[in-house]
Order: sequence, then structure tokens, then C-alpha cells
Amino acid sequence: MSKKRRPSASRPPHRTVFAPETGEAPKYWECPVCGYITGQPEFEDGQNPCPFCKAHDGERRSYPTERIRRLDRQIRAYHLEGDHEIVVILVMALLEAVLEDILDRIMDAHGADLPLRRMVMDTQRAIGTRIGKLFPALCGEEFEEAAAELGYRDFPYRWRQMREARNAFIHDSPFNGAKETLQPSMGNDAMELLDQSYRLFVLLNNRFVADGIHEA
Ligand SMILES: [Zn+2]
Repeated sequence: MSKKRRPSASRPPHRTVFAPETGEAPKYWECPVCGYITGQPEFEDGQNPCPFCKAHDGERRSYPTERIRRLDRQIRAYHLEGDHEIVVILVMALLEAVLEDILDRIMDAHGADLPLRRMVMDTQRAIGTRIGKLFPALCGEEFEEAAAELGYRDFPYRWRQMREARNAFIHDSPFNGAKETLQPSMGNDAMELLDQSYRLFVLLNNRFVADGIHEA
């Protein structure tokens, strides 16, 4: 296991650049050397150095992955049709994939190899445990605290509320009686959470992955 080096006074100050909003999943590029993610399009071709570690090396991978982009497109199509129940369910699925991705990247930055990361993810399947136990164990602070520091104080609460509504909707049973748990307005709330989740992911990445143990 590698040591954590946070916060690092020796790092140059940096400010995460978000990708512009385009009505689809945002497009970011990742430095293969330090893991830094930026929305600056000039970073794509490798002609410009990483704003964080200054490396020119390697192919810059795009983020989010094609799998997430495809799911994002489907969600936006359902949203246009006003199908708020599907939107809420799919956004919750996408957010869980995004969370799994960031936890995997943080473990990787800590030096955990693939079999270990896979084992942790296989045994820690509950989202509450991933947020409440795994995240603080890796980052040394609560998810809520990290989100607040990065400017997304309401995100964890709104996400939890929506998970609970989704669960109540999906696990509705004849014993409880039918419940209108997913209000139409929740489709818009889910879309807001979706857009925020990409930005928060990039900020968490730049703080806990790029600013972590990768040496420039
Ligand atoms: Zn870099």
C-alpha cells in the first residue's frame, strides 16, 4: 500500500476546468500519468502538458466511458418523453456506477491491485456501505464532508432522498398498498443530480486520485 500525501503543499495550485454543458454527457480528458481530469479540449491531443503534473506522455483517455455516455443518452431521451419513473431509476443506476468508478480509482491510487479492488467491490455491494464506510476509510473524511468542501453540500442528501424514493417505488408491495412515491418533478431533480454528479466526480478525482499518491 502506498501512503497518502494529502494535502500536498508542494503541488502547484490548480483549478479544475469543467466541460461545457451541451445537452449530453460532458466530455473530459484524463492524464494517464497522474490521473488528473480536465474539461479543456486542448488537452485531448497530447500537444499540451497536463495542467497538474506537466506530463505530455501517453494517450489521453476520455471520461466518462462510452458505457456511461450510452446510458446518459438513454436517460435524456426518456426525460424528453417525460418518463420520470424510468429517469429516476436509470439516474440512480448511473450514479452508482459513477461512485463505483471513483472508489475504484481511489483504491488504485492507493496502490490496490485489481484482484483486491474486485474483492472489495464484490463484498461491499450496498451503496450505503460504500458511501458510509468505504469512502471515509479511503479518503480520511466523510463523503458528505468532501462533497461540501468541493461545493456540493446538498448532493449527498438529495441523492439519499432520491435513493429512498426509488427504493420505496421499486419495492412497493401489496401489503403496503400502492404509493405514488415518484413525483413527476423528481425527473427534473434526477437530471440535476446527474449533471452535478459528473462535476463532483471530476473534483473528487482531482483531489483524491490526482492529488494522492501518483508521483509527477
Ligand atoms: Zn498529469
